[in-house]
Amino acid sequence: MAESHSESTSDSPTTTSSTHDQSAISTSTRSHHVPEIPIEIISEEEMAILDAALAATRSFLPSAIRSAAASPSRGVSKASITMLSKRKLSACSSSSSLDIEDSFLRRFRKNQALGVTDLTATEWCEKQMENVLCLGRRKVSKAMKLGQARHLELEEEVVKRVRVKVESNEDKWALKLLSSIAGVNQFLFEGRTRELLLVGFVGGQWIVGVIDEVSKASAGDSSDTGPLLSDTKTRVRDTLPAEPQRRNGRLQVMLYKLLWDTVVKEEFPATRFFNYFALNRHEVLSKDVRDNIADAGIPAQTLEEIVRYYETTFKMLPVANDQLLLRYEFQQDRSIIAEIRFPHDPEWVMSKYKEVIEFWRSEREAEYTPEEERWKCRYCQFAKSCPGNPSLQSPSPSSPPREPRPLAS
Ligand code: SF4
Repeated sequence: MAESHSESTSDSPTTTSSTHDQSAISTSTRSHHVPEIPIEIISEEEMAILDAALAATRSFLPSAIRSAAASPSRGVSKASITMLSKRKLSACSSSSSLDIEDSFLRRFRKNQALGVTDLTATEWCEKQMENVLCLGRRKVSKAMKLGQARHLELEEEVVKRVRVKVESNEDKWALKLLSSIAGVNQFLFEGRTRELLLVGFVGGQWIVGVIDEVSKASAGDSSDTGPLLSDTKTRVRDTLPAEPQRRNGRLQVMLYKLLWDTVVKEEFPATRFFNYFALNRHEVLSKDVRDNIADAGIPAQTLEEIVRYYETTFKMLPVANDQLLLRYEFQQDRSIIAEIRFPHDPEWVMSKYKEVIEFWRSEREAEYTPEEERWKCRYCQFAKSCPGNPSLQSPSPSSPPREPRPLAS
């Protein structure tokens, strides 16, 4: 057993047929009701996880070793919104001019990596993301807390948390990277790990993601033997979410694959890493951190040495499997609603990635969610003031598309 951080939740919507699930949907057989209120539990901010990681990290080798010595196309183009309404809810900007020096990235993620959940939340609705950044997020709901608790429970099946005192940012990063190294070791020796933190430089941007689960692909799955990346979503209702929500889930797992493949294939830009995160590569780590590193059997004193181990460790790994997996679990009894396998789509994920990065770099105005998905507005904390919300103009907002029952397995 190794130790780690958890990935968790926030609420958002549900229901319809998939254009991107060219996939087998294996499901439980049980009677289903299409949810009236589409609620889904998705990952919360990656940065929150990182904050949690400041105090907690994995023990660095799996127990066995210690004892012995992720074209669809959203199919939807950007929402066609009038420029007038676009500019009405610019919660952050005092002027309509776009200035890269004043980008969301610089203002809200200075010296930080963008989390994968930053990216997926932006895909959900850019305007909502803008408002979350500028006005704040509402409190965590009960469903979100349940989802977080479930993720923690799943993580604890394979990971044991330990607390380590940190004294500097170098210490924090050393623990994060060591946690990743431990996760990889666990995957290699036990065939599975959970909550694997990855940081990589993807397309000119530092990205961090916490992969819910990495497991060895079973021989029967396909000829692709690359590690299988998957994510479990817990749901308040025993139905699949709407297609936009499933699309968002697929994007998340594909981003994990993009990140994974980048880290295993490309040289880790260490100098850029130290500069961007304002870290001193030569600083000797604190005693507690060094003790933990030593317990892991790694002879390292500085962050630079840990970075080298991180790079070397991932270089041993193959690219991730082209098949990705989303698992939907019913919160109430933890039964599996569906397991959706889908192929990685490199062109689609790159186009979405670029689109989202444009938003973060403030290279264009934030868009409202597409018109056909404005039912999302009913569950949005900014609905009462957002010009994109159709119910502000009409009493009958569009409804989420209905999701057919999952296929019986
Ligand atoms: S009300 Fe609708 S368009 Fe406006 S921020 Fe929320 S989800 Fe986006």
